[in-house]
Amino acid sequence: MIVPVQNITILGSTGSIGTNTLDVIARHPERFRVFALTAATQVGSMLEQCKVHRPEYAVMASPEHARLLADRVKAEGLKVQVLSGPRALCEVSADPQVHAVMAAIVGAAGLEPSVAAARAGKKLLLANKESLVVGGEWFMQAVAEGGGRLLPIDSEHSAVFQSLPEDPSTWPRRVEKILLTASGGPFRQRDPSTMHSVTPEEACAHPNWVMGRKISVDSATMMNKALEVIEARYLFGVSPSQIEVVIHPQSVVHSMVQFHDRSVVAQLGTPDMRVPIAYGLSWPERMESGANALDFSALTALTFEKPDDLRFPGLRLAWEALGGPPGTTAVLNAANEVAVAAFLDRRLRFDHIHMVNRATLEALSPSKAEGLEALLALDEQARAMASACVDRCRG
Ligand code: NAD
Ligand code: MG
Repeated sequence: MIVPVQNITILGSTGSIGTNTLDVIARHPERFRVFALTAATQVGSMLEQCKVHRPEYAVMASPEHARLLADRVKAEGLKVQVLSGPRALCEVSADPQVHAVMAAIVGAAGLEPSVAAARAGKKLLLANKESLVVGGEWFMQAVAEGGGRLLPIDSEHSAVFQSLPEDPSTWPRRVEKILLTASGGPFRQRDPSTMHSVTPEEACAHPNWVMGRKISVDSATMMNKALEVIEARYLFGVSPSQIEVVIHPQSVVHSMVQFHDRSVVAQLGTPDMRVPIAYGLSWPERMESGANALDFSALTALTFEKPDDLRFPGLRLAWEALGGPPGTTAVLNAANEVAVAAFLDRRLRFDHIHMVNRATLEALSPSKAEGLEALLALDEQARAMASACVDRCRG
């Protein structure tokens, strides 16, 4: 079968998802061309990526970083146009030459370019869960209006998507429950009374996945799973009570769908993000991802357990936020971003991340959360409250 070459923009190309995406793309030069790469500040990694992948554009977060990159790009004799800032991110996402956008920036900073891609009707490969948690129904509306396709890259949501029937209009009458699996992170068995002394190094040492620092901390608190519950609610249009979280330490079953007849369909594989990335890129076809095959003879056991509310109090916040007025999930996300950054900066104790999240949720009940401006204003307000809360925790 001859497949036309697709131009791809990768938002957050120097991160964990970004580099895995480039790895997959490089395996299929006849199918994909890198159109644009973007990163915050990593000039050296971006230069290396430009040398290998020869994009038309490279976008850095600030003019200073763009200038540094432009000098080095010129010295290497590369024909890459270097841009900077949020507007450039939106431009390389919505450019008429682009077929698909991998949204792999971390945090709410990824919202605007993701929405720009959605509005322009691109195939949107969404790793950046925070943008959906912030944008909620409004984000899904932008995708519907743009007429493009949203494909989940988060491994759990890719697993659910792969387990669901092809026609989304059949989901409401067929699906009873979505079962999201969670590894339980590095502290599944740690004594809860020692959580106050957790260091950033311990929190970032995930047993099964190598990921960016923010999502690693989220996995350690299980706020990652809380964000994923919210993500699933919007992606698949189910009610919050239809979503359940199951701890599965081996990370082999990536998630499951239970249907009304109580049949359960699951997606399995080795824990390698190149599988959901390849599926998103090739959907509805399949292509080589570079991942190893599961070796069933080497699997000793697949085990499942209920998450412990005492150890992981943050998980419940997903359902609480989904029960609040629209915009409440954006408040939760903003608080968590501020708290995690403070923890990584050694300004906040690990067990205080939850306190900041809960206090911010209780203090701020959104009244207006429609449209980009209102959402960004709410995000800013929640960040200010969460920062004040971090200061109180330290005092
Ligand atoms: P990462 O920290 O490794 O990479 C983040 C990328 O975004 C980098 O290229 C960085 O330069 C860029 N970036 C950061 N802040 C930016 C800003 N303000 N403006 C522009 N660019 C910015 O993160 P990651 O682990 O690759 O995760 C990326 C996203 O994918 C997150 O939303 C995460 O939750 C999600 N995700 C990651 C994994 C994983 O295995 N790493 C799995 C599922 C979902
Ligand atoms: Mg995930």
